[in-house]
Amino acid sequence: MQSASTRAAGARIEFYRKTGKLHPRTVTGRYNSLRWAMVWLTQLVFYGTGWLRWDGRQAVLFDIAERKFYLFGLVLWPQDALLLAVLLIASASALFFATALAGRVFCGFACPQTVYTAIFRWVEAKVEGDHLARLRLDQAPASARKLALKAAKHVLWLAIALWTGLTFVGYFSPIGDLLPRLLATELGPWEGFWVYGYAAFTYLQAGFAREMVCLHMCPYARFQGVMVDAETHNVAYDSARGEPRGTLGRKQAASLKRAANGTAAAATAGAAQGDCVDCGLCVQVCPSGIDIRAGLQYGCINCGLCIDACDEVMGRIGAPTGLIRFAAERTLAAAAKAPAPRPALRRPRVQAYLALMAIFTAAGAGLLATRTPLAVDVLRDRQALSRLTTDGRIENDYTLKVANMLEQPRRFRLRVDGPAGVHLTGADSFDVPAGSVRPLPVTLSSAADPEVRGAHPIRLIVEALDGAPARAVEQTAFILP
Ligand code: SF4
Ligand code: SF4
Repeated sequence: MQSASTRAAGARIEFYRKTGKLHPRTVTGRYNSLRWAMVWLTQLVFYGTGWLRWDGRQAVLFDIAERKFYLFGLVLWPQDALLLAVLLIASASALFFATALAGRVFCGFACPQTVYTAIFRWVEAKVEGDHLARLRLDQAPASARKLALKAAKHVLWLAIALWTGLTFVGYFSPIGDLLPRLLATELGPWEGFWVYGYAAFTYLQAGFAREMVCLHMCPYARFQGVMVDAETHNVAYDSARGEPRGTLGRKQAASLKRAANGTAAAATAGAAQGDCVDCGLCVQVCPSGIDIRAGLQYGCINCGLCIDACDEVMGRIGAPTGLIRFAAERTLAAAAKAPAPRPALRRPRVQAYLALMAIFTAAGAGLLATRTPLAVDVLRDRQALSRLTTDGRIENDYTLKVANMLEQPRRFRLRVDGPAGVHLTGADSFDVPAGSVRPLPVTLSSAADPEVRGAHPIRLIVEALDGAPARAVEQTAFILP
């Protein structure tokens, strides 16, 4: 709340601190390599999977019009919504488990925002040069060269974004047709909306919003705090070792190099200051613009690039690496006599997420193993609950909807399980084409008996007559007036 004096002075409170455009410095090291390995892996899966074929059709396709989800040899129907829900919960538990172990490590290595920002920044560096060249170009007055470089970068960004939009929609509409129809401007309205919309989203998020998404827009950044604790391994600066920070004098640097002579231990010997030489490289390489030396911050995506930068500096001055490292808060506070962190699997939080993950993965596997590729729905004729025939019998009409969830046509048999005398009129076996729902009119008949009236529960049993066993049972009623 503003104090009276502040209000009187008409001071403005800034809720959003402008940082300007970030041009992180390129860094090499194990975390950068791991990061790029994840970029390759995720993009090979994302761009490649849509083009895989299986049994003459697209291997992975969410066919919204047909309400089917093709996943290689598996075809999921709306009836399998529970299986999808269970698998989603298992995936969420895996994310929570990873967060409890290593904070926002998903954000740093696999989140699409991080991955596309890395790709767009790579393109930017290829076109405009390293971080200093990019800074100079941004500050330079308008010129033909600046215009050409910026135009080339944006054309490449737009091409990647459009291909991303096309690939995304290719998981919902056969991807083989999409490209020719895009080129012929023949996309349907919803396809056009999503291809161009997703492309625009990618272009804006990865080209312009970048780290602002992680800092100000991502809801996961806000609630991850409930999943981490003092034993979670986050990227952290070892202030006990690094402080007081200060630049190395030339003489001290030379003496340290001689003393170290390839060994790490002598690095800090005789030095009055901590190991941090205040070079600022850890800040320059950070894609979020964070100074990790100020402590753990929610905007840190645990990408580890500052570790690579600092390890390189430590190597150059002959000091041990790991001044910045993945470490638990408790480990770093050991000097303050905090209890040492427990092994990960002995932490209740980690055990809980692991148990959730195991339970829901097992439930998903169980649902998949016991899944019947047959679904039956029964509808009673609402116009006439029962009918008296000319030969004195009572008939009830139903419509069975029989879904054959396999990709081959199948033959089924229908049986009735109910009061004695209730039987099926007409043929008891029928065919259902591959992957389709067949509406089947069914009439049940019983002798009229003035002593027996009301609704009598019956079961309609549908069984496969060929291929793998499949059976579905539906409850309904036979009405005697
Ligand atoms: S990179 Fe390492 S030495 Fe350089 S400022 Fe950061 S923490 Fe200090
Ligand atoms: S502080 Fe380090 S780990 Fe965190 S986002 Fe920046 S570079 Fe990545």
